[in-house]
Amino acid sequence: MTINCENCNGACCRWWGVEFETGNRAKMEYYGKRGCKIGNIGNGMSVAVARFVCQYLTKDNKCGIQEHKPLACKTAKVGNKLCLFIRKLEGIDK
Ligand code: SF4
Ligand code: SF4
Repeated sequence: MTINCENCNGACCRWWGVEFETGNRAKMEYYGKRGCKIGNIGNGMSVAVARFVCQYLTKDNKCGIQEHKPLACKTAKVGNKLCLFIRKLEGIDK
């Protein structure tokens, strides 16, 4: 499937996440114990994510504050490893 936001459900707006150095066992254990899903996103980094649907995500899976959304949202890269990881969690890609 082609990776783009039109065939997604706003997946990255449905998860809170924090990045940390891959191999940091203390952080893996900390986030793992709290029910986070953990994935390797490349460049020596991993991510721990937890379900948290943004209040600004509209019913049709668009950003309700497009002009004013946070920098982290503005700089999100479609198709990078984090995007692919989250899309898989949402069941969009196999
Ligand atoms: S950046 Fe990736 S995860 Fe976020 S809406 Fe677009 S395709 Fe989905
Ligand atoms: S502010 Fe907009 S782009 Fe950012 S997580 Fe919320 S709905 Fe998604």
